[in-house]
Amino acid sequence: MPVMDLAELSWDNSFTRELPADETTLNRVRQVHGAAYSRVMPTPTEAPTLIAVATELLEMFGLDPDIGENESFVRAMTGNAHVAGTDPHAMCYGGHQFGNWAGQLGDGRAITLGEVLTAADGRQTLQLKGAGPTPYSRTADGLAVLRSSIREFLCSEAMHHLGVPTTRALSVALTGDKVMRDMFYDGRPALEQGAVVCRVAPSFIRFGNFEIFAARGDIDNLRRLADYTIATYFGELLDSHGVDPTNGPFSKDVYVDWFAEVARRTVDMIVAWQRVGFVHGVMNTDNMSIHGLTIDYGPYGWLEDYDPTWTPNTTDASMKRYRFGAQPHIASWNLERLANAIYPLVEEVEPLESALNSYVSRFNERWPQMMADKLGLVDFDPEFDQSLIEGLLELLPRAETDMTLFFRRLAEIDAASQLIDDAELLAPLLDAYYLPDQLSGDHRGATVAWLRRYRERVATGGRPDAVRRRAMNSVNPKYVLRNYLAQLAIDDAEQGDFALTSELLDVLRRPYDEQPEHERFAAKRPDWARTRPGCSMLSCSS
Ligand code: AMP
Ligand code: MG
Repeated sequence: MPVMDLAELSWDNSFTRELPADETTLNRVRQVHGAAYSRVMPTPTEAPTLIAVATELLEMFGLDPDIGENESFVRAMTGNAHVAGTDPHAMCYGGHQFGNWAGQLGDGRAITLGEVLTAADGRQTLQLKGAGPTPYSRTADGLAVLRSSIREFLCSEAMHHLGVPTTRALSVALTGDKVMRDMFYDGRPALEQGAVVCRVAPSFIRFGNFEIFAARGDIDNLRRLADYTIATYFGELLDSHGVDPTNGPFSKDVYVDWFAEVARRTVDMIVAWQRVGFVHGVMNTDNMSIHGLTIDYGPYGWLEDYDPTWTPNTTDASMKRYRFGAQPHIASWNLERLANAIYPLVEEVEPLESALNSYVSRFNERWPQMMADKLGLVDFDPEFDQSLIEGLLELLPRAETDMTLFFRRLAEIDAASQLIDDAELLAPLLDAYYLPDQLSGDHRGATVAWLRRYRERVATGGRPDAVRRRAMNSVNPKYVLRNYLAQLAIDDAEQGDFALTSELLDVLRRPYDEQPEHERFAAKRPDWARTRPGCSMLSCSS
């Protein structure tokens, strides 16, 4: 029976129970040593109002589908009511930001309520983002604004439905408070509406949680955190070693195998990002989940025209460290930071290095397979397909080609008929080009040549067109949270109209389905959005 009261959930706060707490309970910005977290209460807000809830998550927790109408739920989701059984706290972590060690960071505006044991999805942690200052807020206010909260809420749910490993979002709500933000760091701060997202994941442990203990030489706590993480979340790994989870510290092999598992999950996440055209924007090590989940939706973006050098993050505009094409390498660099952090538990370079190499070998196996799937090939035949894929990736950036539309339209190519002229061959793809004029001369010739190669390959693969089309449409989404769509939802939400937020949440639940009634959400970026802030570029200021 679904329940109406969050207090009735099976709260089981293992993180705060098993790991050391900050002894000081004063909520003041400071360095926190020898502790994994600080207990802290969310800051009450003026007028909490619910914007949207994800019904799948209510279901996951066994909560009543109508709970959103319940004032005590809205108060809890904005940090205005203490829920019995929770143990609110902010985690201490560090991180490498844009390639440099940044010292202590921590949950500066996220407050974890606690963990719930769910019937089907195991342990799930609930965390409020934007719920007020913590000891880790550094110079900032601990708050989040409506635009970034809508972006996180919609995108994390969209990613889940796309089959990309991600943290989830249970709710998004207005706080009723105003928040000052200088959106483009150009000295023109303005008041914006404050909001809170309740996000959900098995845990919010990041690479940076390990890095902070290692950087401080606090090896005891490093080991405690690793043992806790492995015993709580990587039980199968202990089973495979025949190790009793209550019996840490574990052997070196266990730590190494665990690291290799984190690397594996990270590969799978990155390959999924590359498949759907997602650019995280801030792949600092404090934004890397130990579960291989996409975490911390900030200045992320979706590729519109296929441009591997693109990043939505204006803070990174000159270096483009976190551009689309660099994500696989950056993840590996981040894993290397994690390897360094846990080195004191292993004290041997070789096994960690070999686990790191397994990231590269797995990526080199998974990525071509994923590309072959996008092309609808029955299998990946390196002899022929390597150059087919490379040829396409060289071609796509040469004209502004919408990535999502291109792959969806490629599925329509008719490979069965014998004779087909160039115009017929190109016809299904035309809509994918931002500037149809660009599909002329050399580029047109090269595209036609590639398409002919592609047809030939598909024909020899022996998969009938209809079967190939179905397979392609199950990995190439029709609907993604295009940057301009999120912005349209935000524009309306800022005026108090949340209908588009709900509609997008709904459409994005079935991103691979045709949904002809929602065709307009599959349209490529309109011209007005080309340069509009929020649509093409974003800052970290959220
Ligand atoms: P991010 O780049 O968003 O992952 O944030 C990096 C660090 O800055 C983390 O420690 C965040 O908790 C902190 N942070 C970001 N925004 C705020 C804010 N408005 N108030 C307090 N801390 C923040
Ligand atoms: Mg972060």
